[in-house]
Amino acid sequence: MKTISQCLVCGSTQYSPFLTCKDYTVSKENFTIVSCNDCGFKFTNPRPDDSVLGEYYKAEEYISHTNTRKGLVNKLYHLVRTRTLKKKLNLVRSYVSRGTILDYGCGTGMFLNVCKKAGWETYGMEPDDEARKIASEANLNLFSDKARINTYITDKKFNVISLWHVLEHVTDMEETLSFFKNRLDKNGVLIIAVPNHVSFDATHYGEYWAAYDVPRHLHHFEKKTIKKLVEGKGFRLRETLPMKFDSYYVSLLSEKYKSQKTNLLKAFFVGLRSNLTANHDSYSSSIYVFSHA
Ligand SMILES: [Zn+2]
Repeated sequence: MKTISQCLVCGSTQYSPFLTCKDYTVSKENFTIVSCNDCGFKFTNPRPDDSVLGEYYKAEEYISHTNTRKGLVNKLYHLVRTRTLKKKLNLVRSYVSRGTILDYGCGTGMFLNVCKKAGWETYGMEPDDEARKIASEANLNLFSDKARINTYITDKKFNVISLWHVLEHVTDMEETLSFFKNRLDKNGVLIIAVPNHVSFDATHYGEYWAAYDVPRHLHHFEKKTIKKLVEGKGFRLRETLPMKFDSYYVSLLSEKYKSQKTNLLKAFFVGLRSNLTANHDSYSSSIYVFSHA
C-alpha cells in the first residue's frame, strides 16, 4: 500500500478521514477516503501500489472495460450508454466541428467509433490489453500509454482530448495533465467527465455510493477541486454540464451494494430526486470543458 502525504490539489499535508468504503466489485477489501483539511479534496489514502492496482480491475462485473450484457443492471447501462454517445459527440462538435480527437482511457473504443463515423481522425489511449484488443477491431489509432503517443505521434496536436470517467483512475496526475497541456491544440478543448461526490445520490448512499468505487477511483472530485487542480496546470474552465443518466445507474449499483438486491424502483426515485434537487454543480456526474488559459 502507498500513502499519499500531500494533497494533489493544494499541496497541504493535513487531511482527515472522510469515509471508509468497501470494494464491492473485486477484492471486498475496505479502503479509506480522506479529505484535505485545507481545500476539501477527497482521495483514497492509502491506496494499492501501482504494481498491484491492475489486480483490482479484474472482475467480470467491471463493465466499463468490457461489453458483457449479463444482468439487468448491465443491460440498462449499455442502453443508456448508446444514447449518451451521441450527446457526447454533439458536445464535442459544439466546440470543434471536426479534426483530431484523443480519447484518453478509451476502453473498448465505443465513443471513438461514433467520432470516426462522424469524420474525426481518432486516437485512443487504453492501458487494458483486453479492452484495447476489442477496440483495435475498429481500426482506430490505439496506444497503451501516453509515452507511446509522444513517440509515435510527433507531428500533430489534438483538437479534442476527452476523458469519460477516467481522470479519477489516473495514478500519475501531474504528468498526465502536463501531457494534455503539451498535446492539446492551442484552440482545442479538454473534456473531463467525473463523478461528483457532492451530489444528492452521493450523500444519500454515503459509504455505499457506487461512484466511490475504491480503490480504482483514487481521486473524488467536485467542481471546486477539479477546477483548482486543472486550472493550476494552465487551463481555464469554460463550461460545466450535467450527466443526468448517471444518477440512475449509480443509484442502481449503490442499492445493490447496500441491500444486496436490485431495487429498481427505489434506485429510480433516488436518481430522479438527485436530478430534480441538483443545482448546476451538484449532479451525480459532471462534464468539465477546459481550454488553454
Ligand atoms: Zn488540498
